[in-house]
Amino acid sequence: MTYDLPVLSGIKNLLIGLWVTLRHLFSHAVTLQYPTERWTMPERSRGVVVLLSNKETGELNCTACMLCAKACPCAAIMIERHRGDDKKWKIDSFSVDNSICCYCGLCEEACNFDAIALTPKYEFSTYDRPSLTYDIHRLQELGRDVDYTPRVKKAPAAAASATTATTEAALTPTPTAPKATTETPTNPSEKGESA
Ligand code: SF4
Ligand code: SF4
Repeated sequence: MTYDLPVLSGIKNLLIGLWVTLRHLFSHAVTLQYPTERWTMPERSRGVVVLLSNKETGELNCTACMLCAKACPCAAIMIERHRGDDKKWKIDSFSVDNSICCYCGLCEEACNFDAIALTPKYEFSTYDRPSLTYDIHRLQELGRDVDYTPRVKKAPAAAASATTATTEAALTPTPTAPKATTETPTNPSEKGESA
């Protein structure tokens, strides 16, 4: 009784496949049952951009300085502003287009006011592309639960005095010690050894 080579090869491959299945049957699963299970994202992972608010007043930290919009390589940030009666910039609108944002984090780097941040939040897929542009209200709501440490800023008076002291220190010449002028006589007569 003879068997064709393809039949033997098929049986061999079938057994290899069954062996692989058997080996993984009782091992720990490396996949998650999404969406009932989700990965915990690393703390500094860069997901959706949000706007941060003052923890006490709840107001946005943004001063409408435009630095983030200028730093954005994708032109994903759109800001409209005007001068208020107090001569400070006021925000009219602030939006981020997540369909072109590349999550580079340059806006967060550029901001000096703890006002914008990238968060580990994700899962914002949609079939409606225009809805990926988030307005100021949505950005603020997304940032409400983001914990951050406000950077410590110097009081204006302290900062000014520190600057003045630094400038004065730089302009004041450093006194130098007088040069020692010790001369060693070489002529014996100068030493008082002459007869
Ligand atoms: S988020 Fe920061 S950098 Fe951007 S406009 Fe507001 S204060 Fe300026
Ligand atoms: S993460 Fe990068 S691309 Fe996205 S808004 Fe900020 S600067 Fe622009």
